[in-house]
Amino acid sequence: MGFGVKEINPKSQTVVGPRRNIDRGGRAEITPQALYEKCLALAKNLWWSWHPEVVNLFREIDPIKWRKVDHNPIVLLAEMTPEQLAERAAEMVLYTRINQAHRRLKEYLTNTRTTWGARETGVLGSSPVAYFSAEFGLHESVPIYSGGLGVLSGDHIKSASGLGVPLVAIGLFYDQGYFKQHLDIGGYQEEEYQDTRVENLPMDPAIGADGKQITISIDTRDGVLMAKVWLMYVGRVKLYLLDCDVAGNSPQDRDLTARLYGGDVRTRIRQELVLGVGGVKALSALGIMPGVYHLNEGHSAFAPLEVIRQRMADDGLTFDEALRDVAHRTVFTTHTPVPAGHDRFPANLVEEHLGPLRDKLGISQAQLMGLGRVEPQNEHEPFCMTVIGLKMSRRANAVSSLHGHVSRRMWAHLWPWRVEEEIPIGHITNGVHIPTWLAYPMHLLYDRVLRSDWQEWMGDAKVWQNLYNVDPGEIWETHSDLKNRLLDFVRRRVGRQTRRRNESDAVVEAARTVFDPNALTIGFARRFATYKRADLFFRVIDGLAELMSDPQRPVQLVFAGKAHPADEPGKQLIKKIETLRHDRRFAGRIVFIEDYDINVARHLVQGVDVWLNTPRRPKEASGTSGMKAVLNGGLNLSILDGWWAEAYNGKNGFAIGDGRQHVDDEITDARDAQNLLKVLREEVIPLYYDRDADGLPRQWIDMMVESIATLTPRFSAHRMVTDYVRQCYLVAAGGLSSDMTRE
Ligand SMILES: *Cc1c(COP(=O)(O)O)cnc(C)c1O
Repeated sequence: MGFGVKEINPKSQTVVGPRRNIDRGGRAEITPQALYEKCLALAKNLWWSWHPEVVNLFREIDPIKWRKVDHNPIVLLAEMTPEQLAERAAEMVLYTRINQAHRRLKEYLTNTRTTWGARETGVLGSSPVAYFSAEFGLHESVPIYSGGLGVLSGDHIKSASGLGVPLVAIGLFYDQGYFKQHLDIGGYQEEEYQDTRVENLPMDPAIGADGKQITISIDTRDGVLMAKVWLMYVGRVKLYLLDCDVAGNSPQDRDLTARLYGGDVRTRIRQELVLGVGGVKALSALGIMPGVYHLNEGHSAFAPLEVIRQRMADDGLTFDEALRDVAHRTVFTTHTPVPAGHDRFPANLVEEHLGPLRDKLGISQAQLMGLGRVEPQNEHEPFCMTVIGLKMSRRANAVSSLHGHVSRRMWAHLWPWRVEEEIPIGHITNGVHIPTWLAYPMHLLYDRVLRSDWQEWMGDAKVWQNLYNVDPGEIWETHSDLKNRLLDFVRRRVGRQTRRRNESDAVVEAARTVFDPNALTIGFARRFATYKRADLFFRVIDGLAELMSDPQRPVQLVFAGKAHPADEPGKQLIKKIETLRHDRRFAGRIVFIEDYDINVARHLVQGVDVWLNTPRRPKEASGTSGMKAVLNGGLNLSILDGWWAEAYNGKNGFAIGDGRQHVDDEITDARDAQNLLKVLREEVIPLYYDRDADGLPRQWIDMMVESIATLTPRFSAHRMVTDYVRQCYLVAAGGLSSDMTRE
């Protein structure tokens, strides 16, 4: 829903030219069945999802149904016959566009010789990078993600596809995914798990040499655990997903991969066994021999053990020789300084699950446990996935400059003989996949004002200099258009939410008019984890109420986000926010949008004036949602934490506080809340409402331009992936040396 019908038509008309004639010709040549198959081919590669002209194509086939099927083109097509599709295509004059989109996809998949990757990643050759992640956030119709880590993995592989970096991805298939969120009439979060039907996903069985779906098995002390393998196409990248719903598994094991981050610690280690060890086995079964293993977070850190086993069996190496070789090829990324984000397992669970593999490696129980401990001999220390990740990789990185400092301090005791600056954990700051998060009207504006091939050079700061010459009115108009779409979305969603809860007619009616298109609109959407401090503003709620209800300079706030099902304080916080709508001071000015997902995120980051972020420094390793707002002209208002600590230059957004933190959280929180109020009152609101004779907030627009021009090139996933290639992958594959190498 991010891209409207209205905006694309003028553009496609110019592209298509004399459409009617071509359409008549096109239709004569193509049967309904062939047309249907072209659409299906488009639907089966997630490439469609970051090409607005293809998204619009699917929408135009049936706009109402498109919303009903949650933007899933496979379901859309399943609900029509080829003849019905052909009829719609004729009515809507879509033949040529379908042909064109299909041709573009084919070209994209075959023209790989001219990509950046073809020039720069030669040493990888036919040994691709194997990228492991527990979740992938690719599109709202593929519910195998929960939040930031998943979206980052999704953006990583989309950029790898665009750049032509040889990479295969490995994850788990969760047939119930993460929960869908509803709030009850009191504002309390309810979780609903829905079964995803495999036939509704752009996914097919991964086929082995015998022509059958590949199934791998893993020995544990408690029997064999099996998983079958699916294949999903993400542009040029193949994503393999392991799924434990296999006939030979016990009933409990068939549900092992049903839910993301569900179940107890035993479920967790079994899922991670399947992802890491199972993932490596799946690659072997597919005949893929990776040159580099990238473990995106600790969940997959058992993988190197299986690779070591293979090296020992195939090449007759000793454990230590194989470890050295495998570590050289392994890259490890750590994503959080929050202790609960690092899985730790007791010795009995490790032995139950890795015992048989340990036997083959010829190492003792104590040796294996030692690989997951900071102090290998300490029998009281559990097995930590981050520790084994760090020990099994020669290149490790954090995800922002500040997070690099924090991680080096956090893990310094692993290298007690080194000073902190020499702890071998570097950093590569996260980035976002621009085509996925950029609104189409903004895209068209960039097409007009930047060089025509800006998408290929978007990592180059020079390309963005042209923005400084753009007519401020044009930028403001585009932004206002996007903001209006957000407001439509908010009203539609709030209306649906109130109807679903059977609220009174007056409440349902009031939902139609929430929010004012002229009011400063602030978005805040993220997981309701404690360190993200969604409650910060409650500390200054009266001051905020006063600011927000100024009739001359009103402010409105849109919230979204899920609390983990086990996080009772997080749920109470959501309830507290949701209940504010009944507070007269905030009525119509605060809304909570249920079920935060990629679709909700896209609407919010594309339409808000300001994106608010209030983590307790330095707990936010990077954060990426603020980067998505940047591309679309939103301004960040954030604590100087994560990416913002290195992005903020005094002119490209707003900082809450000065980056100092107190040892006492209570004092830090109180100060940050006061600073939030202060910056809103003294900087954000005055700047937004300072209008010239044409009604334009000139200085605000200058800040938007400064934000886009200075930040977009630096915080794109293309920049991130090229950094990984140059600093990690090429070195790991034996092509280059690097500072990050631990020699
Ligand atoms: C981008 C995104 C995130 C990550 O946001 P941060 O809070 O900045 O880490 C989480 N969830 C969804 C759905 C996203 O699109």
